[in-house]
Amino acid sequence: MSSSSAPSGVSNKVNVTGRGIPRKCRCGRFSVMRISNTMKNPGRLFRCCPNGSDENPNHLFKWTNISKVEEMKEVESVVDKIEREVGSLAKGLYEVEAIKEIAETCEKDIVELKGVVSSCEKEIQELRSFKNMIVCGGLVVAFVYYVIFV
Ligand SMILES: [Zn+2]
Repeated sequence: MSSSSAPSGVSNKVNVTGRGIPRKCRCGRFSVMRISNTMKNPGRLFRCCPNGSDENPNHLFKWTNISKVEEMKEVESVVDKIEREVGSLAKGLYEVEAIKEIAETCEKDIVELKGVVSSCEKEIQELRSFKNMIVCGGLVVAFVYYVIFV
């Protein structure tokens, strides 16, 4: 992608940030683990390129404890991100619960309103039958009037 010498593969991804344990040198060779035997750093672990040497600083060299600390920091930042996301998910869940409660209240209101509507319908039907009775009574009176006076 950007580097001219690094071959494609996992190493590109690992070396993008330059953090953590380096898998490959920019020359393309896989890194190897060694133990320092210098007076300054006796027994200290490091990873380096097999092509590298004291005279050629262009190849990979990295102390393992520094790589480990960097990896720990990466992991910590990922954990922080996950914690934040879990927190916002929990908040979302709380909101969903609140909406559920509102919906349940609305359902109760709807049931009550249905009851009111059905009792109104009954009243309307009663009024209709009462009206029919009046109409029938009127017809009977009209018939009787017709029979007697016409
Ligand atoms: Zn190299």
